[in-house]
Amino acid sequence: MDEKKRARAEAWFRYADDLALGPYYLDRAPQSSEQQLAREGFAGAPSSGVGRVGAAEPSSATAPLAAATKAPPVPAKPFTQSGFAPSAAAAAPAPIQRATGPSLFESTTRIEGDTLERIRADITPTCTRCKLHKARTQIVFGVGNPKAQLVFVGEGPGRDEDEQGEPFVGRAGKLLTQMIEAMNLKREDVYICNVVKCRPPENRLPEKDEIATCSPYLMRQLGVISPKVICCLGACSAQTLLDTTQGISRFRGEWFDFHGAKLIATYHPAYLLRNPAAKGEVWKDLQKVMAHLGLQPSRKTKSS
Ligand code: URA
Repeated sequence: MDEKKRARAEAWFRYADDLALGPYYLDRAPQSSEQQLAREGFAGAPSSGVGRVGAAEPSSATAPLAAATKAPPVPAKPFTQSGFAPSAAAAAPAPIQRATGPSLFESTTRIEGDTLERIRADITPTCTRCKLHKARTQIVFGVGNPKAQLVFVGEGPGRDEDEQGEPFVGRAGKLLTQMIEAMNLKREDVYICNVVKCRPPENRLPEKDEIATCSPYLMRQLGVISPKVICCLGACSAQTLLDTTQGISRFRGEWFDFHGAKLIATYHPAYLLRNPAAKGEVWKDLQKVMAHLGLQPSRKTKSS
């Protein structure tokens, strides 16, 4: 194939990958509302709480940003549907576009001797800083090992979490627990929290102002716990922590530096409930986390 045609084909394959057409073709279950698409960070979906996902154009057109610090480079995904295997050089992923200026983490005021108890107390059970307070039952602060090496960050509590005051206890939470156990860990070994601490009504995405108001508490939690690895579950969390509006399928499974920790984004367990075919991708991401933390998969996982 001549070079020009190859470059165009590669750009289109990357574009399809950005749109996550892989999981779509593998699992033809009907895609749900546009909001779900936005939640999963798919290009072309309507504006979400963290900004619209990158314009619908081949990702090769996006300019690299010096601020993006990725390590190590990820091997290219083979384009198995087309049978076309791009050259390694051509398939190296372009750095994701991130906002310039101080990140949310950097602009969060540091508190000498900060603790999780202090952060919880600062939020207060009667917090009215954003409109989410109107419909919530209680604040869902976070749960787990305050010295965890691994922190999972979701987007915001759902109905079950709002009722029980603990993150990830509903159906998606049960799947997250299975994922954690497959990594040969227990829920108590890791820390689990969300970008916003109050349930968005009707399980909608958290909005930009809500994220801006609440995320300083997340930044403080991450600062206090100081984990080795942060695993973002879904687009909202990944886009918030990486200061990007790009779709998660563009950068999931890649390593980023996050203020001394390593950060990786993977699909949200709620997405996996609707698209079980994407579980393999998520497992690959979790295996990277395990390798970084020196963990072996559980026996159950090995034999299954
Ligand atoms: N989804 C999330 O993002 N967080 C929860 O706590 C529950 C579901």
